[in-house]
Amino acid sequence: MKKIKPHPSLPKLNDSSSFRDELLNWYDHNHRILPWRSEPTLYKTVLSEFMLQQTRVSTVLPYFDNWIKKFPDFDELANASEEQVIKAWEGLGYYSRARNIHKLAKIATTWETPPDTIKEWKKLPGVGPYIAAAVTSISLGKAEAVCDGNLVRVLSRLFGIDEEYKDGATAQKKLQPLAQSIIDQDRPGDYNQGMMELGATVCHRHSPLCMSCPVLNFCRSGKTGDAEDFPRIQKKKKKKKNIQRYWVESTKGLLLCMGMNSKNKLMGIFELPDHLPTSVNIAFDRHQLLATKKRTIGNVDYNEKIFRISNFNETNLNLGENYRWISRQKLENVTLSGPHRKWITELWKVPK
Ligand code: SF4
Repeated sequence: MKKIKPHPSLPKLNDSSSFRDELLNWYDHNHRILPWRSEPTLYKTVLSEFMLQQTRVSTVLPYFDNWIKKFPDFDELANASEEQVIKAWEGLGYYSRARNIHKLAKIATTWETPPDTIKEWKKLPGVGPYIAAAVTSISLGKAEAVCDGNLVRVLSRLFGIDEEYKDGATAQKKLQPLAQSIIDQDRPGDYNQGMMELGATVCHRHSPLCMSCPVLNFCRSGKTGDAEDFPRIQKKKKKKKNIQRYWVESTKGLLLCMGMNSKNKLMGIFELPDHLPTSVNIAFDRHQLLATKKRTIGNVDYNEKIFRISNFNETNLNLGENYRWISRQKLENVTLSGPHRKWITELWKVPK
C-alpha cells in the first residue's frame, strides 16, 4: 500500500488507517444492493453517476432499469436519436445530463480503451470533478477522492471544521484535498462509495445516527453531539418567481409549447405555454384560474398559475413553430417536463 502523506496544513484524523478499515468493513456488510453495483460495468457506473447528480437514489432506480433495457451499453446509446434519449430521461430533470451522456456514448464508441486518468475524464461532456473521481475510482481503481455535498457534510463533521463557506461548491473545492488525503489507496472505489453511503444512510443532514455510526470513534462532532452544526455554509436568501401558464384546448387537443433554443435547458421538451401565439392572444376574451402550483428549483420558489383560455376562433389560429396541439391519445408519445406531465394528467383527468 502506498504511503499517504497528508498536506501539513490539513487536519489530521486520529489513526486514519483504522478509520478506513472501519468504514470499509461497515460498507462491505451494510451497503444497499443497487442495480449499478451488481455486475458493475464502466457504462453502468457512468450512467448511475450522471443520473445521481442532484437526484435521490429512490428516484433514479426506475429510470436506471428502464434505461438499461432500452440502451444496455455505450453502442446502443450512441445509436439512439436525441429524441429517444430525452424521452427516456423524461421526468428526471436537468436534461443537459441526458444530452451529455448521449454525446459521451458517441465518443466512447471510438475508444480502443477508455481513458484512465481523471484529467482525461474531465474533458468529456458533462463530466466534472465529482463524476471523474467516481468513475476512475470505482471502475478503474484509481485513488481519486470524490467530494460532493455528502462528503462535505461527513468530512466537516468528522474533523469539526469551523470554517464558514459561501456556498456548497466552494466547500466541495476547499475540502477536496482533505478527502484526497484520507482515501484508501487499495480500495478507492469502495472507499468512495462507503463515504457516500455513510452520508446517505447514517450521517443525515438532520438527526444523524451517530450512536450507530461505524466511525463514531473518529468523529469530533459525533462525540461532542453538535454534528448538526456542520457543515457551516452561508444560507442564501430564497428568490420567488411568479409564472402565468395557459390551458388552451381545441378540437385538436391541448396547446403545448416546446423549448427550441439550443441554450434552453428544456430544448425539445413540451410544457404548458407561458406565452401564447399572437393569434390566441388576440382571440381570447375570458380566462379562468384552473390551478396554482408551487415548486422549488435550486434557490427559487416558483408559484405557477394555470389559466384556462376559452372563446377563441380556432380556424384563425396560426401557431408558431414551437407550439403544437397534442391530443389525449398522443400525450404519452411526447416528451413533457416532469411536473407538467403530472399537472396535465391531473387537470385533464388522464388515467395514469
Ligand atoms: S458520528 Fe455522527 S456526525 Fe460523525 S460521521 Fe458518524 S453520523 Fe456523521
